[in-house]
Amino acid sequence: MKTIGIIGGMSWESTAVYYRLLNEEVRNRFGGLRSAKVIVHSLDFEPVVALQSASKWDEAGRMLGDAASSLERAGADMLLLATNTMHLVADHIKAASTLPFIHICDVTADALVAASKRKPLLLATRFTMEQTFYRDRLKARGIDAVVPDKSQRDEVHRIIFEELCCGVIKPQSKATFLDIINDARRDGIDSVIFGCTEIGLLLSTSDIPEGAFDTTELHCSAAILAALNSAQSKAA
Ligand code: GLU
Repeated sequence: MKTIGIIGGMSWESTAVYYRLLNEEVRNRFGGLRSAKVIVHSLDFEPVVALQSASKWDEAGRMLGDAASSLERAGADMLLLATNTMHLVADHIKAASTLPFIHICDVTADALVAASKRKPLLLATRFTMEQTFYRDRLKARGIDAVVPDKSQRDEVHRIIFEELCCGVIKPQSKATFLDIINDARRDGIDSVIFGCTEIGLLLSTSDIPEGAFDTTELHCSAAILAALNSAQSKAA
């Protein structure tokens, strides 16, 4: 089994979920005392958020690139970046390390295509919903992601940063998300992407009858497949 390197801490609430899911996947497959081989490089999130807010993406990219190269030196065989938003600087990470990089948007697109879903609602941070790096990557796979309107995007973003990333789970925020999903049904969505690694803390995929795609779960499943497959090559 290969060693999975996680660039985490963005936020640690979801990195903790990654750690649990990776280990559960290995236990479910092999039983007994088997567990995943994982190295976590967990960043202090506050300085990362300051760089996001100031649109200093190159600086944030260098910070994550340093984390990637330290994971490589520590013996990781592949890299996971445990946040959708920071995939905005995925190129910095790929440039800083020779390790295979499992892109969260690609594994999500794989799952959507396999389920014949082409018009998902994308729920994520404002950066992921409003900038092109994520939706364009989905579009290249024939997936036309819909995003909520401006005031709804602002509220989703606020809930992610002020609540979910701080470990605060409120029933009224779950109701807000479900209302937003309900509104999007009028636009003919065929599924929902939990495009932020903390959304699974608030909603369950079983809450969404059309089908929901939890990027955290998909990312972990793809990593375990790669860790068990010695033929894994450098991903795009
Ligand atoms: N974990 C979140 C994501 O998946 C948001 C935190 C961040 O900005 O990295 O996008």
